[in-house]
Amino acid sequence: MSSSRRNAPRMSKSRSKEKILTCPTCGKRTMVRVRKTVRFDDGLVIPRLLHYECRSCREQLFDDHAMTRIEEASLVPIENSIGDGMP
Ligand SMILES: [Zn+2]
Repeated sequence: MSSSRRNAPRMSKSRSKEKILTCPTCGKRTMVRVRKTVRFDDGLVIPRLLHYECRSCREQLFDDHAMTRIEEASLVPIENSIGDGMP
């Protein structure tokens, strides 16, 4: 295997909600899509982020959509995100 983008699972056009992927870390087919708050080591928190998580080893995978949200959030200071959604 020589994949250089290990954090980008190949997305098919399937509309199945319960898509299950094979975990690249433990090799088990236990990677499911979840929507939950993700905290990174550098303090960045993404609430209710849709991503993949392995039920066996807790490895997390982020697809292009998730990566976009992470990048956007990392550009905005946390203090400035208060008031989001206010008219
Ligand atoms: Zn795993």
